[in-house]
Amino acid sequence: MFSRWLPGLNRGLATPTGRIAQLVGRSLSRSLQLSSRWSVPELSSFVARTNTCGELRSSHLGQEVTLCGWIQYRRQNIFLVLRDFQGLVQVLIPQDESAASVKKILCDAPMESVVQVSGTVVSRPPGQENPKMPTGDIEIKVKTAELLNPCKKLPFEIKDFMKKTEALRLQYRYLDLRSFQMQYNLRLRSQMVMKMREYLCNLHGFVDVETPTLFKRTPGGAKEFVIPSREPGKFYSLPQSPQQFKQLLMVGGLDRYFQVARCYRDEGSRPDRQPEFTQIDIEMSFVDQTGIRSLIEGLLQYSWPSDKGPVGVPFPSMTFAEALASYGTDKPDTRFGMKIVDISDVFRNTEVGFLQDALSKPQGTVKAIRIPEGAKYLKRKDIESIRKFAADHFDQEVLPVFLKANRNWNSPVAKLVMEEQGLGLIRRMENQEEDVVLLTAGEHKRACSLLGKLRLECADLLEARGVLLRDPALFSFLWVVDFPLFLPKEEKPGELESAHHPFTAPHPSDIHLLHTEPEKVRSQHYDLVLNGSEVGGGSIRIHDAQLQRYILETLLKEDVKLLSHLLQALDYGAPPHGGIALGLDRLVCLVTGAPSIRDVIAFPKSFRGQDLMSDAPDFIPPEDLKPYHIQVSWPTDAETEKNSLNPPHHPES
Ligand code: ASP
Repeated sequence: MFSRWLPGLNRGLATPTGRIAQLVGRSLSRSLQLSSRWSVPELSSFVARTNTCGELRSSHLGQEVTLCGWIQYRRQNIFLVLRDFQGLVQVLIPQDESAASVKKILCDAPMESVVQVSGTVVSRPPGQENPKMPTGDIEIKVKTAELLNPCKKLPFEIKDFMKKTEALRLQYRYLDLRSFQMQYNLRLRSQMVMKMREYLCNLHGFVDVETPTLFKRTPGGAKEFVIPSREPGKFYSLPQSPQQFKQLLMVGGLDRYFQVARCYRDEGSRPDRQPEFTQIDIEMSFVDQTGIRSLIEGLLQYSWPSDKGPVGVPFPSMTFAEALASYGTDKPDTRFGMKIVDISDVFRNTEVGFLQDALSKPQGTVKAIRIPEGAKYLKRKDIESIRKFAADHFDQEVLPVFLKANRNWNSPVAKLVMEEQGLGLIRRMENQEEDVVLLTAGEHKRACSLLGKLRLECADLLEARGVLLRDPALFSFLWVVDFPLFLPKEEKPGELESAHHPFTAPHPSDIHLLHTEPEKVRSQHYDLVLNGSEVGGGSIRIHDAQLQRYILETLLKEDVKLLSHLLQALDYGAPPHGGIALGLDRLVCLVTGAPSIRDVIAFPKSFRGQDLMSDAPDFIPPEDLKPYHIQVSWPTDAETEKNSLNPPHHPES
């Protein structure tokens, strides 16, 4: 069982002083020890060491050991703390004349040099044990030492994870990876993936199939990266996901496919996105939504770190329409309330201008959220910035209403609301004395989207003032279902685009609307949401070539030639099938509580899509471009200047 090595591994990771590291260590050991059925991994096979630094305990007393590791601390040229991936151990630097050369090696080596030491495991003298250190009862009495490689002056201290900028961490990623946090995140990720493989392949007969990354353009969906080829004018595209291949595998009779798949999307700068990312990609034949949902619930339950609490199944589900109406988003954070309430009927006969105005329009509504104890925690400037946000981003008015009319700071409108519709409002919103109601009016979707944003904004503000709304230990999964099959295109609202992707099957009860009112058709698309983040999405697919062609050609106006292989395949006895993909980076990020998905990826790109360590992407000399028949069309000075004047909004990190 892992339980024999992981507690050591992880407790060992704790520094004598580092509280975070201790928590990390404890948590990793608990996460992993109980949940695995594998036998004990042999950590010192094939290598120069006999043991890992972090595994040594009193049970090893008297043993002759050889350790390899990095120098973490040195004290008074007497003690040295050696670190490896499993933890820390104290080494006694010999002081006697006969061992002068060993002493010199260990005292001269700079911090973070890598050394090999051999010696005996001995007890620490009484009173000198360190209970905070898992190896704190013992130390190593060194006989021989070898400097394997000295370390130059470091750009930052390995232990001060928090104190360096992310840009610096990414530039020296190989050093950053030595930190406890990165070790924890990557090891936890590896364990979860291992458990997922075990669940899918060993327990449920899935086949792990690798699909190509050099592929061709796919219509619709995200923008793709292109790769030049030696044929003039021809390019490969990097797939945004293995979607077509996994469907073709079903046509090929593979029946149950999965892959830890690398996906590529050229979506520009987004704070919590990566141009290349990893999905747990799944497809099954002869399955319906319920089948996929149960599979994923079982998969997450099985691979979930045991110290993160049990995953309760089945996960609750909510329709897209409900999510929008109550939370203003298709990825609701259901860890807390503050739901959006439609209060249009309370204000039917209002005197208040902007409410009257909104309600006189055919799609007009009045909506509100209640911020518990908002009067106590929100400052006037918070309310001002909320109103400004609504005006700037949604062109909407927001009216704060306090139960105590005297708190409605000089706002005659809010006072009027309280006087005229006060009781109705209080009843509907279940207002308590210290609550604040934020009220807005307008078209349903717009009003809900705005209040959905304000709900999260206010949650952040309340939490910043010490109110615990979203328990960090709580994992709130939710299925969102019954999405529309199509949405109006952002750039051309008269045209349709797929809400998920063009291979998603329509909801069986809405098929008749496809020819008449396609925008009303719901789909068999489902998303998995965790604590307000989308961690997965999938659908039951169209397996009928004629329907697929109609949707692509007639409704989406796509070039079907690009997909002729898929359309052809569907005509050769394609089984009914469906699938899903889990976003592994985001999932692990939420599980570990890491601040960014970059913290759970070994070598991530910066948010501008650059590898700050190697400086990719890089220039290529013109002669190297020749075989591809391409030439750079260099931007003019004016264009370059324009781009630098409009830098992305988010700071580089
Ligand atoms: N390929 C889809 C995606 O990347 C997932 C799926 O439909 O299975 O979102």
